[in-house]
Amino acid sequence: MLNEQSIKELKANLRGGVIEPHDRGYDDARKVYNAMIHRRPRLIARCADVADVIQSVNFAREQSLLLAIRSGGHNAGGLGICDDGLVIDLAPMKYTRVDPATRTVTVGGGCTWGDVDHATHVFGLATPSGIISTTGVGGLTLGGGIGYLTRRFGLTIDNLLSADAVLANGTFVKASADENPDLFWAIRGGGGNFGVVTSFTFKLHQIDMIYGGPMLYELSETADMMKWYRDLILAAPDDLNGFFAFLTVPPAPPFPEHLHMKKMCGVVWAYAGALTKAEEIFQPIRAFKKAGLDFVGPLPQPALQSMFDALYPPGLQWYWRADFVNEINDQAIAQHVRFGSALPSMHSTMHLYPINGAASRVGKNDTAWNYRDAIWAQVMVGVDPDPANNEKTISWTKSYYNALHPYSAGGAYVNFLMGDEGVERVKATYGDNYEQLVAIKNKYDPDNLFRVNQNIKPTKKKSGTVVSA
Ligand SMILES: Cc1cc2nc3c(=O)[nH]c(=O)nc-3n(C[C@H](O)[C@H](O)[C@H](O)COP(=O)(O)OP(=O)(O)OC[C@H]3O[C@@H](n4cnc5c(N)ncnc54)[C@H](O)[C@@H]3O)c2cc1C
Repeated sequence: MLNEQSIKELKANLRGGVIEPHDRGYDDARKVYNAMIHRRPRLIARCADVADVIQSVNFAREQSLLLAIRSGGHNAGGLGICDDGLVIDLAPMKYTRVDPATRTVTVGGGCTWGDVDHATHVFGLATPSGIISTTGVGGLTLGGGIGYLTRRFGLTIDNLLSADAVLANGTFVKASADENPDLFWAIRGGGGNFGVVTSFTFKLHQIDMIYGGPMLYELSETADMMKWYRDLILAAPDDLNGFFAFLTVPPAPPFPEHLHMKKMCGVVWAYAGALTKAEEIFQPIRAFKKAGLDFVGPLPQPALQSMFDALYPPGLQWYWRADFVNEINDQAIAQHVRFGSALPSMHSTMHLYPINGAASRVGKNDTAWNYRDAIWAQVMVGVDPDPANNEKTISWTKSYYNALHPYSAGGAYVNFLMGDEGVERVKATYGDNYEQLVAIKNKYDPDNLFRVNQNIKPTKKKSGTVVSA
């Protein structure tokens, strides 16, 4: 039972402030990106610096409070928030420091990818992230990080040079190839299981303009398109990225009126090579079939990163299902045609993100991310603003997933799992890295303080007692 005195002390010790259920602003502070999630934490610690994080971790441990860590609050399963416990909200820790000489950027644990792109783009530099700029650096990075630059520069974790973290016992450590290398291995894909990461340092690359955007086709062309796309991605140069999607054309400019609300299939391209070569690279793509909509052209990297932000503002209802995919065979394509033609709402979609190229040249045991041999990360998302449509979007997502799962590689990208998929899915995702993750969890968080995540369950408590996994 929490006593008022201990809460008073926590409040006095934090620079960033503590929000309680009776405070004005509590309902805003507990909202996460997915409006399907409603949780009511006992306390929200708005951490302004590392000292605030240390005090909050110590408080949760000493008071035996459930602890959630929130960076961007984008997690589909709502893993950035919890009922009745303490939320460490890192949003106030938004700082960036670019060093153009060493081509690195250090970012606070509360940054979004939009914050990072803003800071690096003026130097003509970028690091691989995702496809929506409002996503948090924290969750996306710790789970792996798939985006437009994956085929050229690898996953986000492949560009992580070091991280600062507060551990379960309240100590502050650095994780890098040289310092605490086991922790550094685990946080590159193992999620928030091992500590609160207060800052990340990434390698930057010379990326200024990208030649990219959506190219969309009639649904009747889906089967041909998918067959052509799967073969193209297997042989494409690393510079060329393109995720396959089913979508509904939004009823607003800049989309032509005759396409408004039309369901289509297509590829969102991102060519990160020399702009002078782009037209040549796209010549065979354009020659394959005339697209019904071709918005592919040169644009600044942050413009591509935020292209879908307006379509997906916070506050929609989201339900996801995902798998890794090695091969898209003709039977799988038949199921894609069936479900892709039946998108249940304007915002619902299916994406196949390529993760071959540079990401596949890192060893499967070199980081916690195990599926280095998968070619795509597949995700079906039922999305709608209106909760009254949840049954329809969830049912479509589940049926689509069930129809495609038999053709998948087994595990799923950990950041595309919902919160409720069970330990077997987590084990399948980490494959033969799971045991090593458990060993590192036993070392750094034996009492499982950090468990509001895709949890790696420790098997040894601090006392040395062995517990079953
Ligand atoms: C619209 C949308 C688009 C997306 N697009 C992509 C994409 O293109 N590529 C991609 O790879 N993923 C994508 N994702 C998935 C995304 O990576 C995950 O949802 C991720 O969890 C979001 O991170 P966050 O910090 O915003 O989430 P939060 O909800 O804040 O946190 C998610 C999890 O990470 C942990 N965590 C977060 N920060 C820290 C930290 N600093 N220290 C320790 N633990 C921490 C939390 O405890 C929680 O378990 C997308 C998600 C959405 C909703």
